[in-house]
Amino acid sequence: MVQGMLGFEPCEVMDPVAEDEVELTRAHDLDIPNSLADLFKKSDRERLRHTYGAAYPESIKAFYGRFEGPPDAVVFPESHDDVRAVLDWATEEDVAVIPYGGGTSVVGGVNSDLGDRKVVSLDLARLDQVLEVDEMSRAARIEAGIFGPALEDALRPQGLTLRHFPQSFEFSTLGGWIATRSGGHYATVHTHIDEFVESLKVVTPRGDFESRRLPASGAGPDPNRWMIGSEGTLGIITEAWMRLQRRPRFKARASVRFDEYGDAVSATRAIAQSRLRPANCRLLDKREAMLNQVVFDGSHVLLLGFESSEYELAPLIEAALEIAADHRGRCLDGAVYTDEEATSDASGKWKDSFLEGPYMQSNLMTVGILADTFETACTWNRFHAFHAGIVEKMRDAMQRVTGSRGFISCRFTHVYPDGPAPYYTYVAPIKPGSELSQWAELKAAASEAVVDLGGTITHHHSVGRIHRGGYDRERPELFADMFRATKKTVDPAGILNPGVLIDP
Ligand SMILES: Cc1cc2nc3c(=O)[nH]c(=O)nc-3n(C[C@H](O)[C@H](O)[C@H](O)COP(=O)(O)OP(=O)(O)OC[C@H]3O[C@@H](n4cnc5c(N)ncnc54)[C@H](O)[C@@H]3O)c2cc1C
Repeated sequence: MVQGMLGFEPCEVMDPVAEDEVELTRAHDLDIPNSLADLFKKSDRERLRHTYGAAYPESIKAFYGRFEGPPDAVVFPESHDDVRAVLDWATEEDVAVIPYGGGTSVVGGVNSDLGDRKVVSLDLARLDQVLEVDEMSRAARIEAGIFGPALEDALRPQGLTLRHFPQSFEFSTLGGWIATRSGGHYATVHTHIDEFVESLKVVTPRGDFESRRLPASGAGPDPNRWMIGSEGTLGIITEAWMRLQRRPRFKARASVRFDEYGDAVSATRAIAQSRLRPANCRLLDKREAMLNQVVFDGSHVLLLGFESSEYELAPLIEAALEIAADHRGRCLDGAVYTDEEATSDASGKWKDSFLEGPYMQSNLMTVGILADTFETACTWNRFHAFHAGIVEKMRDAMQRVTGSRGFISCRFTHVYPDGPAPYYTYVAPIKPGSELSQWAELKAAASEAVVDLGGTITHHHSVGRIHRGGYDRERPELFADMFRATKKTVDPAGILNPGVLIDP
């Protein structure tokens, strides 16, 4: 596939360094009181597992057995009060604390390499229960460390669902989603986790707070929004009341092919600006369609999906298909109506490869091929110039850094009335041993291009440590000062996730 689609040859398959061959640096001595001792683990296995998240350079280092700056210990609190006690101890002892959910951060958000500083990773895995369901208001009180599948399993008997499915759903947690403002499967309207948060329970080094459960409020800046997206720098989310939905009974989907990318973009914009509100509205350019093995005929593909627990979907999907036809879109198979997750058509094939895709990236690493992604959002009026600029700059960067113009594809993960969220995948041959420096140059080129051309440094992958440069350029400086002031108030000793969002 690499040779056929990408035009360059992979190298011999390399094996990763085995876990028992990894040598970790010695941990600092930590003065842990007896009352907390049972919550801490200091084994090499836990320290290794909590050194990195899933960012490309972290995966490369892990592949070569380089676990730099592992945490001195990993702490597994079992309750909100345990989190409180750990933060009090860490403040007293000046130990940095890195909140850890599923560790799927792709931006260095859980990276524990803080130089000489004492550091513990605080893993929320034991806070994993759905505590209460308020069926009348259709909301549930849920602990932050619960993983996606367990959360859905617990809600299913009541016919309810959070229906927030990031691509990392299986391996990421509710607290991680809220802390990073993750983007789920809805391509329109409820795109980010933000909309589902009703109230939060939080521990900061300075004290705790719980926001009031309300369907909406106009009372000043929203305390929930202060925490959503704070990436573990202001406090640790231990629980949340989340707004739920009934499980969808009706589903409809269709795929539409276009010869011209301009037509495909116009059709997608028209649907995004209609009031049809599809759950799925993903435009794959022709390279993305091939990479995901959806079609191989050089057409661009728009995947549409509608779902509802209440009403039939035919009028909605037919209206969307009419809009697509107005822009020369061809829906060869018509709409498919189902409540099953069938996989025989283009949408189904795409869904399979969508969930499996990221693991292909890890496999490519073993044959000397770099595959990474970046995602952004921009307004429709800018999109064509933006997209052309990104493709050109990335092709030039890949040529300069790897000697090949490589491969770059684009899909829209989410669409809004005022603009799309384009998601780029780039693939290039890379020199084994030089992956980190080559990746760093390509990542810098991508981030610079995105911000220069007027996009955001991240639509949903968050900022972490890796996107700091672009984020610093994007946010207003006065806002950065406001954030620093908040940080100083709630975390005066600067123990929480130093280096994420603002300087330590
Ligand atoms: C294969 C793959 C696919 C992905 N697909 C998507 C996608 O579709 N959409 C998307 O938005 N992202 C995606 N991501 C990125 C990542 O999954 C998200 O950022 C996710 O929200 C992280 O959740 P987590 O539980 O793994 O958090 P972690 O990676 O453990 O932590 C992420 C950040 O949140 C902080 N944090 C974690 N838990 C808490 C808490 N309880 N309180 C305070 N801070 C906390 C951490 O300190 C860190 O800064 C993907 C990643 C991978 C590897």
